Amino acid sequence: MARSVLVSGGCGFLGSHLVDRLLRRDDVEKLVVVDNLWTGTKDNTAHIVDPRFSLQIVDAESFSASDRFDEIIHLASPASPVWYMREPTRTIRANIGGALNLLSLLRPGGRFCFTSTSEVYGDPLVSPQPENYRGSVDCTGPRSSYDESKRCTEALLFEQQRVGDLDVRVVRLFNTYGPRTRIDDGRAVSNFVSQALTTGILTVYGDGSQSRSWGYVDDIVEGLERFFWRDSISHRGPLNIGNNHEVSVLETARFISSLVPGSRIEHHPPTPQDPTNRCPDLTMARRVLPGWEARTGYQDGIARTLEWFRRQIASKQ
Ligand code: UDP
Repeated sequence: MARSVLVSGGCGFLGSHLVDRLLRRDDVEKLVVVDNLWTGTKDNTAHIVDPRFSLQIVDAESFSASDRFDEIIHLASPASPVWYMREPTRTIRANIGGALNLLSLLRPGGRFCFTSTSEVYGDPLVSPQPENYRGSVDCTGPRSSYDESKRCTEALLFEQQRVGDLDVRVVRLFNTYGPRTRIDDGRAVSNFVSQALTTGILTVYGDGSQSRSWGYVDDIVEGLERFFWRDSISHRGPLNIGNNHEVSVLETARFISSLVPGSRIEHHPPTPQDPTNRCPDLTMARRVLPGWEARTGYQDGIARTLEWFRRQIASKQ
């Protein structure tokens, strides 16, 4: 049966890639994107010519409609520490307020999908992190607006599932990068790439020994589509989605610098409570999504991202 779908945050980096993928399906009857263009941009959906698609520029927490949706996918939230730390209250409102409001737009028996985060593991004391790891999070720390609003929204959805008939899908996304990240996004890969192409100085915070597992956007969005769309599923989440090849931030910066002759690395003071490591345990993902794997290696994905940024920067000159 064709579904009527709402995607909040569909003009964002990840959301717009997911929207493209869903519009390739013929079992989507209607797709409404709700986005306030805080970190997203209309440019990310400007190429879409499809009568099923429409865009509503409004906060997820205040969007209203007379229609009810079969499937709601709630991605509306900044994901870059630079952006969510700048407006923590708004971040909390987007995640929790957005989920509360959008739940009221779901048809009875509909499905609510949510992109949570590996940040729920805080600065993890186990590696890799399985879904049943409860995390090491500081609820009053500088990352708390993001970490805790994702955690609280997970609680909201799983509790609604427990007491009602809500069909939930919750993923915990690990670091994702690729084309359509904002040039001023501030996260590591996009920052290093845009810095290499503009100022030539890549800012590594601290000694760069902290590690992350970089997931290329196409791989991650394929995992999302499979998980959000499948009806018969043995596990509704939380589900880790990411690439499990862990790399230090310094190695990442060195690789990007090697692609742009003349660029160099500069060390800056470490940021407070910067997690020391992050790597998904994908045992559950392999069981629930057989055949899915984040296959793109970081060198390949970063080279593609760099070319996209190069074109973006050239087009704005
Ligand atoms: N980072 C860095 N320089 C930058 C941006 C980020 O050294 O210009 C580091 C940051 O301190 C962290 C890692 O890269 O250790 C990943 O940061 P990002 O903001 O991408 O995501 P996080 O996993 O911290 O949410």
